Amino acid sequence: MKIHEYQGKELLRKFGVPVPRGIFCPTVDDAVQAAEALGGKVWVVKAQIHAGGRGKGGGVKVAKSLDEVRQYAGQILGMQLVTHQTGPEGQKVRRLLIEEGADIRKEYYVAALTDRATQKVVMMASSEGGMDIEEVAHKTPEKIIKVFVDPLVGLTDAQAGELAAGIGIPADSQAQAVAVFKSLYACYMETDASLAEINPLILEGNGNIKALDAKFNFDANALFRHPDIVAFRDIDEEDPNEIEASKYDLSYISLDGNIGCLVNGAGLAMATMDTIKLFGGEPANFLDVGGGATTEKVTAAFKIMLGNSNVKGILVNIFGGIMKCDTIANGVIAAARETKLTVPLVVRMKGTNEDIGKQLLKDSGLPIIAADTMAEAATKIVAAVQ
Ligand code: ADP
Ligand code: MG
Repeated sequence: MKIHEYQGKELLRKFGVPVPRGIFCPTVDDAVQAAEALGGKVWVVKAQIHAGGRGKGGGVKVAKSLDEVRQYAGQILGMQLVTHQTGPEGQKVRRLLIEEGADIRKEYYVAALTDRATQKVVMMASSEGGMDIEEVAHKTPEKIIKVFVDPLVGLTDAQAGELAAGIGIPADSQAQAVAVFKSLYACYMETDASLAEINPLILEGNGNIKALDAKFNFDANALFRHPDIVAFRDIDEEDPNEIEASKYDLSYISLDGNIGCLVNGAGLAMATMDTIKLFGGEPANFLDVGGGATTEKVTAAFKIMLGNSNVKGILVNIFGGIMKCDTIANGVIAAARETKLTVPLVVRMKGTNEDIGKQLLKDSGLPIIAADTMAEAATKIVAAVQ
């Protein structure tokens, strides 16, 4: 689960990371009032969406008067903000953060994240802050410094110092940077985050270290123990199909292709997507109906897949273990009838009650294309959508 920058900064503040003073604003009038309340001469008007790269897309503007605050807030609120993380359709801006302008001497990057290769938490930092870190990693990987943290020990002073010195934080400010890195690590661990990123972390004119941006990702499987973080959820920022799917306890992720997939088991769902790609197709979604798929669940899954206008065909791939193939077959038949399915449907089923399931599909009179192997199923659906 993702959260907004202003919420991320609340968390950082709680863990002792210095952040600029700022006020969350849903309207232009609120933005002007917020700037007045903050005082000072320079404010930053910041679009709040669940995507980075807002600055480049025109979603972060420095205002030097209250009139400019009003002007920029008016421009940004309601705009369709396009960044490298939103996709070409962009994301509508519904919320703003008005912040005091910081005196930036230098911008750095720091993040805590899970490193799958080493199965450890890695703290990553760079002197090249403010920019797209993927680009830094690609063009100048030597400018990214990493330390791998022993979970039993935590981030040590020595490691935090290595990061601070490694990215060139001036000696006088290194103690502050060490404190920030340790707080960031604590915040990452205690909130069950999978990413906690500050980009940019800045050195101010007066030598202080501050977080100017905050980006978090949380492990959805751990949210049950963080009601305070769940309260940050903003469903306006989420894919409506994914929200609908979660109501039925379906694991669904939208993708860019045109072949809808309905599978039981996350591993089989991944393998199905791989097989579709191997045979030249593109999956439109990841969808795991889980172990207890009822007719109701399968129908909901069909409706969600068909709600995506890119979907030109559906591949159902079922392994009947605990879930019996005839149960799924009945679900598929009911769903196909209820949704008045018009796109080609390929069904492959294996395992418990396979024969009964296949017979049910055959007897249904629906134009279902049967397949026996994964390769055959993928070949047939790829051909059908072309
Ligand atoms: P994004 O990463 O989505 O582009 P950021 O919050 O990182 O958004 O802002 C982009 C840039 O805007 C920063 O790199 C920084 O240069 C500038 N900026 C952001 N907040 C402030 C602030 N409070 N004061 C001064 N400059 C800021
Ligand atoms: Mg940023």
